[in-house]
Amino acid sequence: MRALCWQGDRLTVAEVPDPELRNGHDAIVRVRCSTTCGTDLHLIDGGAFGPGDVLGHEFLGEVVEVGPRVRRHRVGDRVVVASVVACGRCRYCQQGRHSCCDNGSVDPAAGELAWGQAPAACHGHPSAGGGFAGGHAEYVRVPYADVGAFTVPDGVPDERAVFASDAAPAGWTGADVGGVCPGDVVAIWGAGAVGQLVAQAAVRRGAARVVVVDRYDERLRMVERHTGAETVHYQRADVTAELRERSGGRGPDVCVEAAGAVGGSRSLAERLRRAPRTPLALREAVHACRKGGTVVVLGDVTDFVDAFPVGAVVQRELTVRGTRPHGPRHIPTLLEQMARDELRTEHLATHRFPLNRGPEGYALFRARTDGCVRVLFTPG
Ligand SMILES: [Zn+2]
Ligand SMILES: [Zn+2]
Repeated sequence: MRALCWQGDRLTVAEVPDPELRNGHDAIVRVRCSTTCGTDLHLIDGGAFGPGDVLGHEFLGEVVEVGPRVRRHRVGDRVVVASVVACGRCRYCQQGRHSCCDNGSVDPAAGELAWGQAPAACHGHPSAGGGFAGGHAEYVRVPYADVGAFTVPDGVPDERAVFASDAAPAGWTGADVGGVCPGDVVAIWGAGAVGQLVAQAAVRRGAARVVVVDRYDERLRMVERHTGAETVHYQRADVTAELRERSGGRGPDVCVEAAGAVGGSRSLAERLRRAPRTPLALREAVHACRKGGTVVVLGDVTDFVDAFPVGAVVQRELTVRGTRPHGPRHIPTLLEQMARDELRTEHLATHRFPLNRGPEGYALFRARTDGCVRVLFTPG
């Protein structure tokens, strides 16, 4: 089959072996569409992919084969697949914290070396993130198919449902982990798909004001049109002062960093050799947050960072929480909301390319020209 792979120095569409069932709980899915995600750019820049790795962790397709122990799916089902690979049975999965799954990764030693304990794997991060190939391909092996794949209700178009894979669960998880309450003021750094979905989640949870911070005019206009949030252009305003003004002089109750990742190298030794990078949006989020408020790191940070303002955290009693999307926890509700037209996400897929033109799609996504938020890949 054909797939969008990393070739050591660039992306290319190459012929790779077809995936096979390896376990009774697996399904094979023929991909109908997949989307780009900022995480992939940061992982590329961080040297996280090995040669031949197939990218893509947000995808939707049709089940073409199921293992003998799959109960919830049969051949022909149209399914959206959670980006995280989780077992559904361990202590963390039982708590709905699927991205902390104990059994998702086939290479837990890599996770332990990098982060102390192995989290769940993620599709499309084969070398660095648990060992599973991605969805920018004709076919994908979906482990724990009863846990990670969800039948899409009839009438929900592919280009809407595909965002239930990762971006929408990220938004819902971010608002949840931030403990957004009715009446809160919520500020979000990053007006990409994830930032816009955090905004939608916060509005749904009854936040009094939601403010999204970015520098791309098209994205900020999209936020205003689709989410019910306000915006701040960070190059044209003093963000902290502006947020204080809009929150009764206190600062936002919840600040969510959804601007992106500090991408990860593959080995701890490489990480230690490299100068830590400074996450500017995160520092600004800490700086802006009200005393006693919560800062959520939702960008997929995998590496070390430096110049983190611990003093502000201590002196102002901030809570800092990090998370990755707990897809299987939120996807059923998200699909119901999509089916009722309460949650619309298709506008985020601003561009569409056949998979054959994958490298071109990623180049556009990286450049963010032409109002690009996400590129949707379809077969061909
Ligand atoms: Zn993603
Ligand atoms: Zn688990």
